[in-house]
Parts: sequence; C-alpha cells; structure tokens
Amino acid sequence: MTSEERQELKRGIEEAIEAQKTLIASLSETSKPVAPDNAIGRLSRMEALNDRAVSEASLNAARLKLSRLETALGKVDQADFGLCVSCDNPIPPGRILLMPEVTLCVPCAEKD
Ligand SMILES: [Zn+2]
Repeated sequence: MTSEERQELKRGIEEAIEAQKTLIASLSETSKPVAPDNAIGRLSRMEALNDRAVSEASLNAARLKLSRLETALGKVDQADFGLCVSCDNPIPPGRILLMPEVTLCVPCAEKD
C-alpha cells in the first residue's frame, strides 16, 4: 500500500466512523423503553416492543461495527495493515471499509 492509499483508507475509515456514530445516535432515539402506561393499546404496544427489539439489534450491530472501525483506524499506520494474513497480498480498501475486522483477501477468504 502506498502512503497515499493509506491516507485515503484512513480518511475512509474516519468517515465510516462518523457515519456509524450518527447511525447509533438515531438508533438510540428509537430504542428508548416503551412506556407501560401509554395509551396505544395492547397490540400497538406489542408492535412497539417488537420495533424496539429490532432497533436494539441494529444498535448492537452498529456499535460492534464502530468498535471494529476504531480498531482498524488504530492499526492503519502499521506496515502490515491491509495485507492478507494468509498470502500477504493487499486487501482491497473497499473490503476493509465494509468489514474492518477482515484479515483475509477475497481469494483466501473464499478458500476457507
Ligand atoms: Zn490472501
């Protein structure tokens, strides 16, 4: 990876972190506890609880992604960052942004 590519990847990760934080903030709004005494009726309350479970799952996934992005950002300056642990070929930046925890290039990942 050239230093220019590294800088670009770093910016990409930083942008992804910002996007993830925005997502978490908006998901946190929708996963607030459902008030037991609200007058929306039993069925609507079930729906509200269901929606809440869904947004909590999204929130957990978003938090996990954020922590993986932050880990990746912390390692981006290391010489071996972005290299496949199996074959030492560079992992495409797009793949790293999508799956920051990834340590294998596409062909190696497909071998497993
Ligand atoms: Zn590989």
